[in-house]
Amino acid sequence: AAEEGFDIEDVEGAIEAAGHGPLPVLAVVGRPNVGKSTLVNRMIGRREAVVEDRPGVTRDRVTYEAEWAGRRFKVVDTGGWEQDVLGIDASVAAQAEYAIEAADAVVFVVDAKVGATDTDEAVVRLLRKAGKPVVLCANKVDGPSGEADAAYLWNLGLGEPHPVSALHGRGTGDMLDAVLEVLPDAPEQSFGTAIGGPRRVALIGRPNVGKSSLLNKVAGEERVVVNELAGTTRDPVDELIELGGKTWKFVDTAGIRKRVHLQQGADYYASLRTAAAVEKAEVAVVLIDASESISVQDQRIITMAVEAGRAMVIAFNKWDTLDEERRYYLEREIETELGQVAWAPRVNVSARTGRHMEKLVPAIETALAGWETRVPTGRLNAFLGELVSAHPHPVRGGKQPRILFGTQAGTKPPRFVLFASGFIEAGYRRFIERRLREEFGFEGTPIHISVRVRE
Ligand code: GDP
Ligand code: GDP
Repeated sequence: AAEEGFDIEDVEGAIEAAGHGPLPVLAVVGRPNVGKSTLVNRMIGRREAVVEDRPGVTRDRVTYEAEWAGRRFKVVDTGGWEQDVLGIDASVAAQAEYAIEAADAVVFVVDAKVGATDTDEAVVRLLRKAGKPVVLCANKVDGPSGEADAAYLWNLGLGEPHPVSALHGRGTGDMLDAVLEVLPDAPEQSFGTAIGGPRRVALIGRPNVGKSSLLNKVAGEERVVVNELAGTTRDPVDELIELGGKTWKFVDTAGIRKRVHLQQGADYYASLRTAAAVEKAEVAVVLIDASESISVQDQRIITMAVEAGRAMVIAFNKWDTLDEERRYYLEREIETELGQVAWAPRVNVSARTGRHMEKLVPAIETALAGWETRVPTGRLNAFLGELVSAHPHPVRGGKQPRILFGTQAGTKPPRFVLFASGFIEAGYRRFIERRLREEFGFEGTPIHISVRVRE
């Protein structure tokens, strides 16, 4: 590395930064208007605007990356609020339930000026039941005179209330320090800890694509009755299902089963649930209704899985209803709408007739294998060397940027760091990704490539 002009410490640092595993997840929960979104904005440093939501407004984005004191984590923001659809208690409870489910630790925000309400008490019961670490944020303590209000919140029985002004930043640092103390380094259900345990699958897709039907079909006769499998904790919302001779953990299936109070077009809850399921899963099976045009919502769900870095399979359901004409148009739509995820294995199924159910497992296994692929550094550099000499980067300003060497910094999904002598253009990066896929497979997995340029 040194003779290529890179400092060995730079190289090691870059590899470590790129190779981080899945990040721990922090959920921010609480009643509407206590200041959750304001607090999340502060945590993510306003790098991504969290739009103030009005009831009924769809919001897809619920997880953000944050960093404090050099540690990175994900924040699940539950600021999206649909008071009109559900009663206040039901809404807060549902929102908190999904978020807590997905989280490794929780910040519970209470408006210290108002004090603890019945709804707050209801959330406290949920938090107790979940047993996850909780940091109590007594918000809207804008000055020293508010400290007494915060102290009242000891009554909630959640330990020390941290007086905070999310609006002005007062106390947020101390509170985040407390968060980092209870937040694990890696997600609770850390990948690969339960070796030989069931792989975790999230079945996701917009409403009415057939998720519950599919689940019933595959689980129907073979629902696993044993509650305790070696090395697994049985979560009430997860379901162990025997498929293709193996046991799989379908995460968050309680969310798939219809909940009466969540049926009325609660888009926001659908997004939150999808995000929660994806966080908990290793592989996402995205279900699409093949009888209808591929929609923006389908694409957003796919994007969520890709951004979360999960392995992915796309299943086109309701195949039993397709005529020749629709099949023709579907092929065209797949080319135009799903070009970005052409790497995802596709299966054409019918939850109604059971068509091609047996193809689901091989597709999932292919995706997981791609997700875990590790290319030895020697092979990677032999490949890069040939690639760069056969297809050099275009000359820019009389200089020719060159990829000097590279390494795979991590898996799940595969992450690469390439070291270059100059700025590598987006087109050339895409070309390298395409060639990497051709050479090494990576079917069913997103791959990350970061490029370091020699100073
Ligand atoms: P959410 O519904 O819980 O996400 O709450 P928001 O973050 O949207 O905040 C609700 C209102 O409370 C907004 O008008 C905020 O400006 C205000 N707010 C949030 N944090 C504070 C704070 O620390 N002090 C004061 N005085 N107001 C705040
Ligand atoms: P979910 O909202 O994604 O869980 O979707 P459901 O499983 O509730 O299915 C929505 C509707 O589509 C129901 O009326 C199902 O009977 C129907 N459906 C689901 N899968 C299929 C399929 O493979 N073929 C046909 N023709 N209908 C299906």
